Amino acid sequence: MSAVVKNALAMIGVRKQFHELNLRYRVFLSQMPLVICVALVALVAAIFFPTTLDNVAFQAGLIMLAILTAASFLVPWDRLPYPTYWVIPLLDFVVVAALRTGGAESLSGLSMLAVFPVFWLAWSGIAPVTARIISFFAPLLLVWVPVLTSGEPVTAAGLADPFLIPIIMLAICVTASIFSLSETDKQGVLEAKDRELQAVLDETRDRSRLMQTMMDTVGVGLVAVDKDGHDILMNRRQLQNHMLAAPPGNNDPNERQLHVYKPDRTSPIPPEERPVLRAVRGETFSDELVWIGEGKQQRAMSISARSMRDDDGTFAGSVVAFSDVTDLVNALAAKDDFVASVSHELRTPLTSIIGYLDLALEETQLKDPDGSMAVCLSVALRNAERLLQLVSDLLTTASGPAKIEQRSADLAEVIASCLASATPRAEEAGVVLVNESPDDLEAFIDHDRMCQVMDNLLSNAIKYSPAGGRVTVSAWRAEGSVGFEVEDHGMGIAEEDRGGVFTKFFRTPTVRRAAIPGVGLGLVITKAIVEAHGGTIDFTSELGKGTTFRVLLPAHGGDPVRPTEAASADRI
Ligand code: ADP
Repeated sequence: MSAVVKNALAMIGVRKQFHELNLRYRVFLSQMPLVICVALVALVAAIFFPTTLDNVAFQAGLIMLAILTAASFLVPWDRLPYPTYWVIPLLDFVVVAALRTGGAESLSGLSMLAVFPVFWLAWSGIAPVTARIISFFAPLLLVWVPVLTSGEPVTAAGLADPFLIPIIMLAICVTASIFSLSETDKQGVLEAKDRELQAVLDETRDRSRLMQTMMDTVGVGLVAVDKDGHDILMNRRQLQNHMLAAPPGNNDPNERQLHVYKPDRTSPIPPEERPVLRAVRGETFSDELVWIGEGKQQRAMSISARSMRDDDGTFAGSVVAFSDVTDLVNALAAKDDFVASVSHELRTPLTSIIGYLDLALEETQLKDPDGSMAVCLSVALRNAERLLQLVSDLLTTASGPAKIEQRSADLAEVIASCLASATPRAEEAGVVLVNESPDDLEAFIDHDRMCQVMDNLLSNAIKYSPAGGRVTVSAWRAEGSVGFEVEDHGMGIAEEDRGGVFTKFFRTPTVRRAAIPGVGLGLVITKAIVEAHGGTIDFTSELGKGTTFRVLLPAHGGDPVRPTEAASADRI
């Protein structure tokens, strides 16, 4: 039925669903089937039974139908109380009664026209019981009134004869209202779904507005990519970054065309190694430093990426964040430059002071070895040497990644000579040094830098051991590598301090409380040198029991390990 109505509506140019029309149109359209049928009846009567049209009752029926049809279109039903329009189908029964009274002699079956108001009432949303009562009694009156008003004696047989019509009408009403109820139910379900969908859509729109505002508010460039590398979302800040990295004149560059450089600001990063493409491959990383753009416009970006997973854990894309850290990187570089140039300026006069103090001490010791002047001079010399060590350490850490020149050298000789020069300090501290390394151990190392590593580890082992302690150095060759370790039985390092040991200026609280001199740069330098050899450094320690630092180097040299400490500038 609804398809018929829909097609009928479409034919007259109405594209909406019947229930979407306003009430006036619906009432008018519901009246149409009766109007069309009566028009056909009138046509048939005019052609074959013209006298019927002269009948007053028939004429009254036609006029009343015309008035009702006009009213169905003109009355603003939607502004009147809801069921008012039912008056039209109810009065349609009167129309049918009039037509039947006037035309019954020539046209049989006119009472069947009551089927139209019956259908209408069944579909109108009126309570089914009411519709059924009306559907039975209205046709009953329709057939009985003529019998009762005919003036002829009323017999039971006369009343029972047309009784079939109200019963048929009742049956039609019941059937139609059952269909109508099921249609109404379906429509109710559809409308509820429609409302739900609309609510979800509204919520989604609100959320996406909120997300876009948040993304545009944060000072970080954000881009979300799907698993195939297509951009799903990009905030305004990232759009600016994107354009900054674009080649001049290219307003829609792809990832491969962008100017993206390594921390040295000049070496381009190969497309496959670029952060966004790595994120598309599902990599997760934090705080990777790259430079984007060219010349004075170049900006430093600290980039982090996190991947997204479906409910079933499948990779679904990534979110990549770009923080502009140009000011921070410039400030760090300026600080390193400042530290490097101040240290450099301090080193020359300090070396000269140490030289002259050495001379003065020698001469004083010759004249009066135990005199107070000799003691004063040796204290001054020791402190000047500490100052020089500090200045050298600062200079090393400020001048970037360690530069090394590897060649074949005897690691055993490095160990022996470092132990020899540490002996006076060890004796002064009451610490015994033990060498458990082989007599010779060929390695591919920068001799002087490896001495620096050994000196740092030995000096710490002595410094952080109690008097009477013992420091053991052992070395070995394993497949493809050479290694050595420095073991002490000193104060050890607490578990919670492990993470900080290789960071600049870190000193454990135990060492600070004990007021043992130091600045927290030795291990940073040591690690940088070992990593520049392609090696690794690690330690085991137990608080109050001692510490063992272990260095492993590739036997035949290797690629430098990517530095992990702030001494290098590719991580923030
Ligand atoms: P410094 O010794 O000048 O303080 P380092 O960088 O050499 O700086 O060492 C950093 C910190 O690591 C030290 O301050 C100390 O707290 C801890 N540490 C290093 N070596 C040892 C060790 N052998 N035993 C105990 N603690 C150590």
